[in-house]
Amino acid sequence: MTGAAPGGQGCPRVRFAPSPTGFLHVGSARTALFNWLFARQSGGTFVLRIEDTDAERNREEWVTGIVDSLDWLGLVPDEGPYRQSERAARHQEAIDRLWDAGALYACDCTREEVERRTKGHAKPGYDGFCRERGLDRRGHALRFRVPDEGTTVVHDLVRGEVRFPHAAIEDFVVVKSNGQPLFVLANVVDDIDMAITHVIRGEDLLPSTPKALLLWAVLQGPDAPVPAFAHLPMLVNEKRQKLSKRRDPVAVEVYRDEGYLPEALVNYLALLGWSHPDGREIIELDEIVARFRLEDVNHSPAFFDVTKLHHVDAEYLRSMTPESFIERAGPWLAPPLAPWPAENFDPVAFARMAPLVQERVSVLGEVPGMVDFLFLDQPVIDERSWAEATKDAEAAVAVLGGVAAAFRECPWQADELHAVTSAVAESVGKKLGRAQAPVRVAVTGRSVGPPLFESLEVLGRERAIARLDAALARLGVA
Ligand code: GLU
Repeated sequence: MTGAAPGGQGCPRVRFAPSPTGFLHVGSARTALFNWLFARQSGGTFVLRIEDTDAERNREEWVTGIVDSLDWLGLVPDEGPYRQSERAARHQEAIDRLWDAGALYACDCTREEVERRTKGHAKPGYDGFCRERGLDRRGHALRFRVPDEGTTVVHDLVRGEVRFPHAAIEDFVVVKSNGQPLFVLANVVDDIDMAITHVIRGEDLLPSTPKALLLWAVLQGPDAPVPAFAHLPMLVNEKRQKLSKRRDPVAVEVYRDEGYLPEALVNYLALLGWSHPDGREIIELDEIVARFRLEDVNHSPAFFDVTKLHHVDAEYLRSMTPESFIERAGPWLAPPLAPWPAENFDPVAFARMAPLVQERVSVLGEVPGMVDFLFLDQPVIDERSWAEATKDAEAAVAVLGGVAAAFRECPWQADELHAVTSAVAESVGKKLGRAQAPVRVAVTGRSVGPPLFESLEVLGRERAIARLDAALARLGVA
């Protein structure tokens, strides 16, 4: 039986080993986070290794994208990024050693040939056809000779003991016919060289783990300690389907660009497979670091619930001081994220509105839409809201006209504006809530937003009245 007990004594060394085939997936970010948390709480080292050996599927900007996203999340590596592609010489040395030890054999079978031969076979995959053919290694794919007997046991910190009978593992390819090593080999060689003590990664990689252990035993000797493994549960969408690039918003960049806070995303990602012993869901990072235990990670699939993430983000925004909210909203208050010209922005006006906005947005990306009416020369009228608010055109004309007249006279304060609007509403026989709808759309362009009377106070008398007059003109009142 191969597969020694988990090693990992001394100072833990963990790695996050993404293949740069696009953006940073939220599932990968969760893997990076769990590695980082484990390193932080154990005084260990968090290594970033870019597994970029598949030249056709790798692009430099994707590496930058991953590094930037990790940086934005605050998951900064202690070592790296190392490039797997720069370690080709070490991979070749390992191939030589495996070959010399008789652990590999050359194979020239095509996929079609294997399929034809193995149709209906009980054992899946390759049938060992080339095992004893003694082909030269040059120009051929190299396969690992999996022992016929025995079982490889993975001691997984999340899933417990997982047994893989060798009879069910095919002689897997470790080197392609062009001499390029496959993922499983490069990954093991790098883990050995980087003295990785704990391999924490997605559950999709569990099937490759017995292969890794078989390679490990030949390269390091059957009794050498192997890393401890922790395979993290898959992330699924609301239909319990595995999160997919095509179907679901899975790129960390998407959340960054929508204005989620990195600390809220990190908090939410921590809950995907782990929970606080007290069941709390809004947890400061220090507390997560202190409480997180790999052993407590759950093995059932974790639902990546965007609605819940939204809620967590809103909680973070609400608990900020007004000053930090203003500071964090900064990038969203200037072009290109804000729709107004930079010179139109008035920080004093924004600071007055900020506490009202802070309570009403869930992500920072919603901030411009709450205050654009202040900084655009004219509000952009949402036509559907306008149509809805002016369905009863006669009442809308009466309210807008009455309010415009009253606003010319009254003191310019929210409570006064409220009082005169209520009086106008009463005079046209409408409840304030309904009566103020055309006023809100006329002034802000929308039917929802921060409280109307405070918004009017900050906007100022002249601009408010001009917008009410423009709305009356739209309704045909000169
Ligand atoms: N490079 C592999 C991947 O992105 C991960 C390898 C690992 O964590 O062991 O799927």
